[in-house]
Amino acid sequence: MKDILASLVAFCSILPSAVFAQDARLTARPASPEPGAIVRLTLDAPSGVDKVVSVRGALAGEPLHFMQTAAGVWHAIGGIPVDEEGSLVANAILQRASGKTEITRIRFTLPKIPPPVAQPLEVDSAFTRPLDSATLARIAGENARAREVGRRAHERAPMWTASFLKPRNSVITSEFGSGRLFNGQLTTRHLGVDFRGAIGEPVRAANRGVIALVDNFFLAGNVVYIDHGGGVVTSYFHLSKTLVAVGETVKRGQVIGLVGNTGRVTGPHLHWAARYGTNTVNPLDLLSISSSWYSAAIPR
Ligand SMILES: [Zn+2]
Repeated sequence: MKDILASLVAFCSILPSAVFAQDARLTARPASPEPGAIVRLTLDAPSGVDKVVSVRGALAGEPLHFMQTAAGVWHAIGGIPVDEEGSLVANAILQRASGKTEITRIRFTLPKIPPPVAQPLEVDSAFTRPLDSATLARIAGENARAREVGRRAHERAPMWTASFLKPRNSVITSEFGSGRLFNGQLTTRHLGVDFRGAIGEPVRAANRGVIALVDNFFLAGNVVYIDHGGGVVTSYFHLSKTLVAVGETVKRGQVIGLVGNTGRVTGPHLHWAARYGTNTVNPLDLLSISSSWYSAAIPR
């Protein structure tokens, strides 16, 4: 009997692992994301005898951080760039114990980007004058620093153990992606969400994270950037006062600054923005990521 078992084991081990492993499958929600959306990816990869030892992946030039949530199931989030049209592919690369590598993909068909919807705004003419080259250089430098915060957020594991929350409970006065008119001239799309607020009202951290940047920027005024890990960054603009320092770990819901009108704005409000890596995404999409679906392991 022992001999039969031994020869069975020997026989099984020489069969290619693909005989046992079912094909891995990658699915996404939403299935048809808008530009700037955060997508939730699920990888189903039944192990069979050839165990999956690691999973990596990419979407839109950014790494995906797959986390195993059940036997044969991994979750990851990714960002769709705001200026992407046509189609985009996310992939997952599985490494099995035998050394075999499997690649599975999902293709997104993106809607054509509609022309921005104009929202006429009465703006001081100081805002519509062309900017001088020194100011343009300053803005470019500040954008590069913000991108770098996004890039570095991939180096840290997700820090949150609870779902993301809105930084204010007030009315949203401008949605993500809506176009803007400054004195009749169409400017760039609005790459954040505006919350109503009076000067001095509290602004809260959307989730646990490390303060990555605190400064005064030309367009955004007093800013705070939080690195939540897992590629996710949230930022808070036009603050009258910042209450945190770079390197500090903040709690979900902690007051990190006060509403203001610093930077290139017409009145006090909070502009809330988010990135997945270097790509700007709709911060409200963070609210749809349940902590049981994707978060750091809850410490025991
Ligand atoms: Zn805004």
